[in-house]
Order: sequence, then C-alpha cells, then structure tokens
Amino acid sequence: MKRYKLMIPGPVDTDGEILAYMATPTMPHYGPEWMEIYTETIDCLKRLFQTENDLYLMAASGTGALDAAFGSLLATGEKVLVPTNGYFGQRLISIARGYGLVTSILEFPLGQPVTAEAVRTRLREEKDIQAVAVVHNETSTGVLNPVKEIAAVTNERDVPIIVDAVSSMGGVPLPVDEWGIDLCITVGNKCLETPPAVSAISISERAWRIIESKENRNHGWYLNLQNWKAYAINWASWHPYPVTMATSNIITLLASLRRILDRGLEEHFAQYTRTSRWIRKGLHNLGFEMFADDAYASPLVMAVKAMPDIPVTEMIKFLKDEHGIMISGGLDELAGKIFRVGNMGRAASRDYILSFLFGVEDFLRRKGLDVAVGQSLAGMD
Ligand SMILES: *Cc1c(COP(=O)(O)O)cnc(C)c1O
Repeated sequence: MKRYKLMIPGPVDTDGEILAYMATPTMPHYGPEWMEIYTETIDCLKRLFQTENDLYLMAASGTGALDAAFGSLLATGEKVLVPTNGYFGQRLISIARGYGLVTSILEFPLGQPVTAEAVRTRLREEKDIQAVAVVHNETSTGVLNPVKEIAAVTNERDVPIIVDAVSSMGGVPLPVDEWGIDLCITVGNKCLETPPAVSAISISERAWRIIESKENRNHGWYLNLQNWKAYAINWASWHPYPVTMATSNIITLLASLRRILDRGLEEHFAQYTRTSRWIRKGLHNLGFEMFADDAYASPLVMAVKAMPDIPVTEMIKFLKDEHGIMISGGLDELAGKIFRVGNMGRAASRDYILSFLFGVEDFLRRKGLDVAVGQSLAGMD
C-alpha cells in the first residue's frame, strides 16, 4: 500500500512512536491492569478539556458521541437551537431531527462565524428552546466559532449547550469548565493525533440534572448516557462503562495525550498557531486567498479559495499522485471552489508543510505560471 502524507482535515497521521502502541497485545477492558490505563486516560482527557465534569470514552466516531449528547439530553418534541455556518452545523441539525427534536436554526453564510448576539436574540424570542448546539471548529470552511461568547449567552439564560469540538479539542484552547460547556465532544483522530475509533464526551452537572429528570426518552441504549453513568457508579472499581472498550486505541490515545500534556498545552497550541501561519503565508506568497478572514480563521484547517484557471480537483490529484500528499476539496456547494489543508498531527510539522508548499509550487508551474522554487517561503524565518 502506498503511504501518503495526510494533510486532510482528519483523520490525521499519527507519529510513528505513538502508532506503535496500536500493536500492543489485545487487553481485556476490565481488571486492575486495564483500570490503571483507563483511569489515567480519563485524567489526561480531563486536563485537556480543563474540566472536572464526568468524562466518558466510547467506541464511536465523533458523530456517534454527538448522537449520545442529543439523544440523552433532549426528549422527542423538545426544541434545540442550532446556529450553523457549514456542513458540520448542518449535521447537528440532522442529528437533532433524527431524535424527533424541533430545530430552531440560525444560518450564517459559509466562511463567516456564527455570532453570540444572534443566539442571544433568538433565545429571547423563543422561550421554549431547551438547548443550544454549535460546532466549535467548522471543519468544512476553516472558521473557528466564538464558543466562549456563545456559552456566556447560554449560561446567562441557564440553557445547556452542546459543543461539537470534534476537530478543535486539543488544537485550540477550549476550557470546558471556565466557559461553562455542558456537553463537549471530541474524537481521537483529529487534534488528539491517533487513529480513528474513540470519542470522548464530558457532561456537566447541569446536563446530568436535565438528563436524569426525564425518565424515558426512547432514545436507544448504547448511546444513552444514563446507562453509562449507571455503570460508572455501579461497576466503578473494575468496569465503569456498559460495553467493551477499544483498548488498543485507548492505549495509543494515552501515549499521545501524555506527550501533548508533557509538552504543555500552551506550547502545543502555540505550535499550531505557528504552523498555520506558515501554511497561510506560503499559499499567500503563491497568490492564493483564504476563504475565511484571518480574524476568525481556524489554525487547524485552512480553507483556501481556488484561483481562476487552477482547477482544484486536478491540484488535489496531482499532489497525491506526484508528491504523496493528501489534502481535501470543498464539500457540497463549495466543491471545486475551495481546497482544505489540515494542520493537525504530523501535518503540523515542518517536513509536511514544506513538502506541501513545494508540491503546490510544482503544480502551478505545470499550469504555466511563473513560480520560482521556494517562492512560497518568501519572508519566513
Ligand atoms: C470530523 C468532524 C465530525 C464528524 O466526525 P466523525 O468522526 O466522522 O463522525 C463532526 N464535526 C466536526 C466539526 C468534524 O470536523
């Protein structure tokens, strides 16, 4: 199998040293040896989430844990407010509808952030809204939404908030307790730099009060957080979850979390900021413009406008075939109009970024543009 450098917005390339943990012999998901690993992993995740809330790990993609959040917090017929500015915001609406929830939607243009002010107004207008759900890093457009401000508004009104931090947790600051986030969801295969399979979800006391006040939502079993809590209490000492855990993935996740935390969150975030500037500047030097304004652009995924006469799909294929680098195109209506470059995991390394920028230079030359070797690096230290 050919190996590619993944610079897509997830899943990300895992560092070889960390990836090696996937080959640990299969462990049972209970008993004293395992409990030590599991407990430390949860502790590390709580440090990363900056929370003292309950936090669970489930074998599921990010969407699975989002399903657990919606289905556990809200009963059929209840209303949830979803401010959206892209594909993953739309996904939250679909999940809500899947549980028979009524959706109140605030739609913002692609490439623009959602605003706390609009959320405040809507909450004032519609008093029956039971929760707000929002994407932190809108991976489809490279916009980082102002979750801190939005959570300030929801907390002002004592409405719980679900945050899709699937592509942001571990890459940018997101202090769950300080910002007052009720249900916060992420996955192992984006900013946590490990292979896909596990999701993490934190649950605030307010969320628990709401969840436990409703006897029966008829919202399934595996993704019902009440079942997770029952096992966390009743089987606390040896098996604090209702099902089998993805043990090899969690062992790998722990190795990655230890490394991130040993390095320090501040330094870890600073590196993403730094490398995202390199990518942005490099593309800018070649004549590209960003899709999202710098004021709210995400450092974790760059959405870049296509240039006239430079077909995006052809460039993506060229980078893959000729340079072994994978990036992504736009989703839905942005297909062909933008390309997206991930800056998570190994993608945020000098090696990957230089290979990518030289690859783009190479493509532009093939297309007849006058681009000197290393032109993308102008003005970089
Ligand atoms: C990747 C992503 C998802 C979907 O995650 P899956 O693991 O594929 O279910 C949801 N929301 C955001 C913001 C994402 O970036």
